[in-house]
Amino acid sequence: MYPASFDYLAPATLEEALDILGRYGDDAKVLAGGQSLIPLMKLRLAAPRAVVDINRLPGLDTLATEDGGLRIGALVRHKTCERSELLGGRWGTLGAAAPLISDPIIRNLGTVCGSLAHADPQGDWGSALLAMDAEVVARGPDGTRTIPLRELFEGPFVTSLAPTEIITEVRVPDPGPSAGGTYLKLERKVGDFATVGVAVHLSVADGRVGRAGIALTAVGPTNLRATAAEEALAGSELTDEVILEAAEMAAHAAHPYSDTRGSADYKRQVVQVFTERGLRSVATSLGAPVQAGSPGPVTSEASLEATRRQDYFSGERTLAGVMEELEEKPGGPDGGAP
Ligand SMILES: Cc1cc2nc3c(=O)[nH]c(=O)nc-3n(C[C@H](O)[C@H](O)[C@H](O)COP(=O)(O)OP(=O)(O)OC[C@H]3O[C@@H](n4cnc5c(N)ncnc54)[C@H](O)[C@@H]3O)c2cc1C
Repeated sequence: MYPASFDYLAPATLEEALDILGRYGDDAKVLAGGQSLIPLMKLRLAAPRAVVDINRLPGLDTLATEDGGLRIGALVRHKTCERSELLGGRWGTLGAAAPLISDPIIRNLGTVCGSLAHADPQGDWGSALLAMDAEVVARGPDGTRTIPLRELFEGPFVTSLAPTEIITEVRVPDPGPSAGGTYLKLERKVGDFATVGVAVHLSVADGRVGRAGIALTAVGPTNLRATAAEEALAGSELTDEVILEAAEMAAHAAHPYSDTRGSADYKRQVVQVFTERGLRSVATSLGAPVQAGSPGPVTSEASLEATRRQDYFSGERTLAGVMEELEEKPGGPDGGAP
C-alpha cells in the first residue's frame, strides 16, 4: 500500500525542525531512519500531514564517551553501534544488543534514538539502555530537558515525549571502572523481533555488586526493569543463591502474554534462564566468578528442557551459525526446525 500524501520537509538546522514541528503540532512526525515510521505509513497505521526529516541536521551523529559517560546522538545508526569498538567492556550490554537488532538493512538506517522514540516493547535498545540507567535529551519549544528512560516509556508505542520535541541524544551514565553487561535475545529466526530479551548490566567493587541493571524485552507493555532483582543483587556477593534468586525475581517482573512466539509461561521461563545465564557470564567477564553458596540446581531441569525445545537459533548472528545449529538439532537440517 502507498502512504497517504504528506508534506516532506528536510530542515537544515534543529531550530528550523523545531519551528516546523511547532507549526504542525501532533500532525507531524520526525523521520530518522524511517525503519518503523515508513512501514507504519505504508500500512496507513500512521498518516501524518508532515514528515520532518532530521537526517540533514548537523552534530547528531556522535557516538562518544564524555566525562566517563556515553553519548549516542539522534542520527547514530544501529550499524555504527554494531561496528563500534567502544561498545565492549563497560558498555558491553549495548555492544551485545546491537548485532541482534533485525537484519543488516534495518541496522544500516535505523537509529538508536528512533527506536526509543518508537517505544516498541519488543525493541532491543529500550532494555539495553534501561539496564544502564540511560536518559534521553529532548529539545522542544521551551528548551531542553532530560527524561530518564523509565519515565519515557508510558505504554506500547507511547512515550512522554511531546509531539513538538526531538530527541537529540541518549546519555548513559558512567558505570564505574569495573562494569560490564550482556544482552540475550531469543528470536524465532535471524532478524526477527524478540520472543524474549534480557539485558544485564553489573558494576562490581571489592567482590560485591555495586549497581545492577536488569531489563526485559517483549514481556510487558513496555521494556521493563526487574527492580526487585536489581535491588537483591546490589551490595551482594555473586553467589549461586543470589543469582538464582535474582533470576526468579526477574521472571516475576515479566508480564508476558501468549502468542505465536510462545506461551506466557514459556516466556517467563526464558526470562529466568536468560537472567541467570547473563549474570553468570557478566560475573565471569568481570573476574568475579560465582561463589558456590547454594546446594540447589543451577537451573531447574524443567526450565532447561523448555528452553531446549523452543530455543531454535536463539542469538545466532550469521547464516553459518544457523546452519551449524540446525545440524545439531535432532533430525538435522531437514527435521530440526519447527
Ligand atoms: C522488519 C523489521 C524488523 C525489525 N526488527 C527489530 C528488532 O529485532 N529489534 C529492534 O529493536 N527493532 C527492530 N526493528 C525496528 C528498528 O530498529 C527501527 O529502526 C527503530 O525502531 C526505529 O528507528 P528509526 O531511526 O528507523 O526511526 P523512524 O522509523 O524514523 O521513527 C520511528 C518513530 O520515532 C520517532 N522518532 C525518530 N527519531 C526521533 C527523534 N530523534 N526524536 C523524536 N522522535 C523521533 C518518529 O517520529 C517515529 O514515530 C525492526 C524494524 C523492521 C521494519
